Amino acid sequence: MQLNSLTEEELKEVAIKYNEKAFRGTQLFNLFHSQQKTDLNGSNLPKKFIEELEDKEEIANVKILEEYASKLDETKKLLFEFDDENIVEGVLMKYKHGYSQCVSTQVGCRMGCVFCASTKGGLIRNLTPYEMLGQVYEVEKKYNIKVSNIILMGSGEPLDNYENIIKFLKLLHNEKGHNTSFRNMTISTCGVADKIYDLADENLPITLAISLHNTNNISRDKIMPINKKYKIEDTIKACKYYSEKTGSRITFEYTLIHGQNDSEENALELRELLRGLKSHINLIPLNPIEEYDEKRPDRGQVESFKKKLEKLSLTATIRRELGSDINASCGQLRRKYKRGGTSEVCSSN
Ligand code: SAH
Repeated sequence: MQLNSLTEEELKEVAIKYNEKAFRGTQLFNLFHSQQKTDLNGSNLPKKFIEELEDKEEIANVKILEEYASKLDETKKLLFEFDDENIVEGVLMKYKHGYSQCVSTQVGCRMGCVFCASTKGGLIRNLTPYEMLGQVYEVEKKYNIKVSNIILMGSGEPLDNYENIIKFLKLLHNEKGHNTSFRNMTISTCGVADKIYDLADENLPITLAISLHNTNNISRDKIMPINKKYKIEDTIKACKYYSEKTGSRITFEYTLIHGQNDSEENALELRELLRGLKSHINLIPLNPIEEYDEKRPDRGQVESFKKKLEKLSLTATIRRELGSDINASCGQLRRKYKRGGTSEVCSSN
């Protein structure tokens, strides 16, 4: 396991394994997570210990490979590279209350949602806890900022990489490290119901977002294969358990595909599904991708669906379009980069 993916307790055990005092483990933890460093040289660890660790252990690095800066607002899209040259993307957004960062949890994805670019090449591999933390640390160092909100909504399905995301979020929460409150973390999932129960039982007040995108099983089956395993009702039941256990409101992401999921009937079905659940709906206009070139609704059509929901006493907001000039959908940048054709979206060089 990579040293900078370990907890303080685990690092103390590593120190003891190398016949060092346990506090050397704490020093390592502080170096990785308080100073955000990955190079042991220059630290006040004994030279022999550094040499042994460098020789026998692994320390992961995350590098910012490319930056695409919006000319319209302060949004940045970023490509991160890992030691094995795999790349993922992320987004940094500035809001009144601070910075939010969208973090990737896997290279690729195996969920197969038809509209999503991240899944088109399948799952390459899970990211380790540090490979997720490093996305945040590198951004903070590059821009000299503190990121206050973390959203697991980049490439990958967080609940398909469960152990690593939990470890990542606990490290992020650690007061000696990033010291982020669990309430400022959001996990977005296509609806891996079993894992939603596990997450609820962790008793961490993390915000849960569900990518719903349709209101009945027949239609949802066609766009999100996960729905064949966990039906909408199963996912909603898991959400109710989560909401009751953590006292939190569940966000439902709803990508609007004009003519497919924005009818009066959809609004009515949504009301029935969400009855008795503390919820909020986030409407996202579809970003068409090459393999799924369906209709993106215009502003009026999005507003009209929002009104339909509000008439039924559901609360909905339309996702603010930040960085619309660099608005490649989830996973699109990475794929373009791999094909060597990013120049049309790259405004930073
Ligand atoms: N696997 C997780 C998180 C990654 S996807 C999940 O499913 O929630 C992040 C969000 O972007 C999801 O809500 C996803 O459904 C949405 N999304 C993916 N491709 C999109 C597209 N082309 N247009 C609009 N939203 C998209």
